[in-house]
Amino acid sequence: MKRVLGVVAVLLVACVALLAIRGSGLESRQLDVAPAHPIPVDAAAAARRLSESIRFRTISHFDRSNLDRAAYFAFHDFLARSYPRAHRVLARERVDELTLLYTWRGSDPSLAPVMLLAHQDVVPVPAGSEERWTRPPWEGTIADGFVWGRGTMDDKGNLMAQLEAVEMLAAHGFAPTRTILLGFGHDEEVGGTGAQAVAALLESRGIRPDFVLDEGMAVIRGVIPGLEAPAALVGVAEKGYLSVRLTVRQPGGHSSTPPPHTAVGILATAIHRLERAPMPARLEGVSRALFDYLAPELPFSRRVIFANLWLFEPVVKRFLASSPGTNATLRTTTAVTMVSGSPKDNVLPNEAEAVVNFRVLPGDDVEGVLEHVRAAVGDERVEVAPLGTGSEPSPVSDPDSPSFALLQRTIGEIFPGALVAPALVLGGTDARYYTGVSDDVYRFGPYRFGPEDMGRAHGIDERVGVDDHADAIRFYVRLLENAQRP
Ligand SMILES: [Zn+2]
Repeated sequence: MKRVLGVVAVLLVACVALLAIRGSGLESRQLDVAPAHPIPVDAAAAARRLSESIRFRTISHFDRSNLDRAAYFAFHDFLARSYPRAHRVLARERVDELTLLYTWRGSDPSLAPVMLLAHQDVVPVPAGSEERWTRPPWEGTIADGFVWGRGTMDDKGNLMAQLEAVEMLAAHGFAPTRTILLGFGHDEEVGGTGAQAVAALLESRGIRPDFVLDEGMAVIRGVIPGLEAPAALVGVAEKGYLSVRLTVRQPGGHSSTPPPHTAVGILATAIHRLERAPMPARLEGVSRALFDYLAPELPFSRRVIFANLWLFEPVVKRFLASSPGTNATLRTTTAVTMVSGSPKDNVLPNEAEAVVNFRVLPGDDVEGVLEHVRAAVGDERVEVAPLGTGSEPSPVSDPDSPSFALLQRTIGEIFPGALVAPALVLGGTDARYYTGVSDDVYRFGPYRFGPEDMGRAHGIDERVGVDDHADAIRFYVRLLENAQRP
């Protein structure tokens, strides 16, 4: 008996030692980068220009005829006025009427161009919510170290910072060897026909950018438990999108003589079954890569867990799935968003309808989601049909590419101490249309955000820090400089 216990004890010790050795052996994926030499930026002047850009109400609409074209054209003139040197070196084209494509021709046509994206359009400020803003949403007020207003975070900050960078480089006599492209869509928030048109134009010209950089992720503080340093998350893929309509048709009639289940009742059961059958969670692909980059930087107690996913994966998955933000990185999510039934309280519904929105994880696809819904509902009285065509998840860009390393190096120069990691973008961006013209499509806006900033984009009190905007400009300056080296 003693001997058996002894063997068990030895095995246990060996097992703990193995976990610990693996835990301490995780190799860091961070680059050792010296901070950039100081890049002088007139932060106050840049903030004033960003402030002015907010006053153009370039709001996109699903119905194109509702677009305020004059606001867009005035915005284009404002850009030309604000960045005269940039507009001397850049050739400007209007594509799909309101989208802008700028080209700064490089001296060496054998080098593939690099491309930065941003979008001009913003989402509206819903009536009645205006009073809840600390500063008015359309004035671009500069106060308390921030520029406030709709579009500062999403996405005029990036757009203006990119032009500030080109303006500075042009002023210093910089002449690119590698062509620089800027693509500013006009309707990202409602589908991105502008971005689609630019991508098609590049394709028709045989132009394949070395990499494309769009909005998506940022330098985020305090979002990953146990991680002290801010994380510069670079989106290497984005989820797909599908809405599904569930319809139940039943004989209507007076509610005084109802059947045991009305159309609404049958629909409710279907919804219940669907919510109880989430699509499977997977810690692989992009979500796995995120942890591969961040785990080595965690304190030892947590590092041990990530270094031994062969053992702890089920626990880690359960932990991540327990909060909506991380759950969404693991699986195709299910969100029941709309329901309707009878129009009157004493009338049985002829028809009840629900709409369920899915965000499709890379690795899943639209057809598979539809099959899942039919199987989960398992009731022939419930008609399952896609609403529109949906969109498949994007391809995944390589975090081991030279252009990812270029981004990583530049992030290190401007945001010393930030940890770089590839990540999955949960929303949609214009970038998805460029995956056909470039292998390396990344989604990263060089701004610092913390937990207190969640919900500001598209919400109330959208703002960016004056100093953060200056650093975003520095980032783009360095990125364009660094990108010149072949
Ligand atoms: Zn955006």
